Order: sequence, then C-alpha cells, then structure tokens
Amino acid sequence: MRGLPRVTLAALTALGIGSWLGLGQPDQTRLKELVFKARDAVNEATSPTATPTANGDPVMDFAPSVAPETLDTARPWPRLNPEASAKRAWLLAEGPYHPPGDGERLVTLTFDDGPFPETTPSVLRLLARYNIHATFFVLGRYLDGDDDRSKATRDVLRQIVSSGHLVGNHTHDHHLLTQLGHGETLAQIEEGAASITKVIGKEPIVFRPPYGQVDVFTMQVLKEKQLELVLWNIEAEDMKNDDPVAMFQSIRGQLEYSGGGIVLLHDIRPSTVVMLGKLLEWMSLRKFDPAHKEKPGFRVVDLPAYIRATAESPQPFSDRIELERKRSAQHQAGITRRPRR
Ligand SMILES: [Zn+2]
Repeated sequence: MRGLPRVTLAALTALGIGSWLGLGQPDQTRLKELVFKARDAVNEATSPTATPTANGDPVMDFAPSVAPETLDTARPWPRLNPEASAKRAWLLAEGPYHPPGDGERLVTLTFDDGPFPETTPSVLRLLARYNIHATFFVLGRYLDGDDDRSKATRDVLRQIVSSGHLVGNHTHDHHLLTQLGHGETLAQIEEGAASITKVIGKEPIVFRPPYGQVDVFTMQVLKEKQLELVLWNIEAEDMKNDDPVAMFQSIRGQLEYSGGGIVLLHDIRPSTVVMLGKLLEWMSLRKFDPAHKEKPGFRVVDLPAYIRATAESPQPFSDRIELERKRSAQHQAGITRRPRR
C-alpha cells in the first residue's frame, strides 16, 4: 500500500484541480504543489490497513438530518454566494471553519450524473442504512421520454425525493457550459430544471455545472435565477477509476487532510456503490463525539445543514489558495511530530 499516495496523486493531478477559480497558470501550479505535497504526507502517515470490517450491517449511528418537508421552508438557507462567484463557491465547498481543539468534521455527500435505475437504488439503500440525506445533481435528459427506461428513471428520481434527499440541477445534457453560446447555456440550465420540475413538482434550487466549470455568463444566469452554485472539495475521479479500494483510500486521505468537505461521487457506477459502502462504514466508526469535542470525528449532514454551519463559522480566508497554504503548513508541522508506524 506504499504505492497508494502515488495513485492518489495521479488521480488528483488528473482532476484538473488547477482549473479552480480560473486561476493563472503559476497560481494553479503552486496550489497543486501545496495540495499534493500535504495529501501525500497524510496518506503516508495514516494506516492503510485501518479499514474496519463488520459482521452484518453496521450500526446506524449518524444523527438524523433535516426532515425532507422542512428543507425548503422551515429554516431558509443563508445565501452565502448570491453573486454565484465560482471563486467563492470553491472556498465554500470547504465548509465551516473549526478552531484548533474542535474536532468536528462536517461531511456532505453529493451524487452527479444520474439517476440510473441500475445503480441509484443501491446508493439510496446504503444512505438509508446510515440515515444520511445527500444531494443528487441530476441530468434532465434522462427524465424525458416515454420509453421504459425514462419511466424507470423518473421513478428513481421520485424515490430520491421521498427518501428525503435534495435534488439539484446538473443541466439537461451535461455539456461543458464554457464552450456553449449564451442561448445554449441558458437552455441547458432551464431545460434541466424543467425536466426535473415536471417529475418532482418543484424547481431545484441548487446547481452544479458539468465539470465544475462556469464562465461569467453562467454566473450571471445563476445569480438572476437565485440558484446556489455548489462545487466540491473531495473526489476520487470515480468516473474514470474502477477500483473501489483505491477510490476509498483516496477519499479517506482527502477527508482526513481537509477535515471534511463536500464529497463528489457519481451514482451511476457500480464501483462507486461498492466504495460508498466502505466509506460510510469508515465514517460511522469515526463519528464525531460531542462529549470529546477535541477528538477529530466526522458528522455527515445534508447540504442545507452544511451551508448553515458554514454561514455560522465561515473560513477566515479570502480564497482556497490562502486556505490551502495554511492547511498545508499545519499538516506538515503536525505530521513531522507524528511517530512513524
Ligand atoms: Zn457531471
């Protein structure tokens, strides 16, 4: 497993992390170096054999998140990013700031590119087992049509909603918006929303652009439509990787390094379903204990709870580069003190 950090690094390199925020090339390179160096060190320092095994179903010990009927109305979400700025959205994905000595690490799960009748129901069963409410950024094109598959896909979307999960717009056809004309971009967002609304009876209020890419025009559209731009800070390139163990190890290392975050997964891949089972089990065995606040532990929450917590305790940084520099320095200092196994 000594080779794992290299796998993780290769995956991260391919993520296109440098495309964050439309940074200039020198900034992108510097940020990549910081992230990779620190995550490499964390992966090396954590035990690769720490994966727990359980006989039968793991204990359902996550606290219930917000009830579905309260998501939109009971406690309105704070608008953290009314300008729909991509730079700000990347920082917000990092979640709330926790001062030293506060071990609570918030995690929220997001699933893109579905629904898929073959795999999404398995994801829903796993989430239900752990009482977790996630967010599904779905594609409108799968919901249209009168063929059997489209009908089954619409049923799955209704199941997502009835299970208490949030549905977001991931456009109609998954085109790279920055390569479209204004009219086409607008149509992708509006048609995606229309297809979703036709099935679930309400308009999505969160939006994730394909490939995480937005341009000035897209930001303007999101701002006018008051859509929350949701990006992420944790992923394992599960659209390209098929090894659940390697993907789990990668996500585990990133969660430990970043102290939680918005996890991007795709509910259309069997290997992701397998990996998700491992991830949920691992996080449940490392859940945050309020009686021992200083001890690092995870609390998996839905997206509204994640946004509210971020509003209450924002990151004291202007952007993700600044955060990354501080975090990297802290981890390097901590890891040099940590005894090697
Ligand atoms: Zn996508």
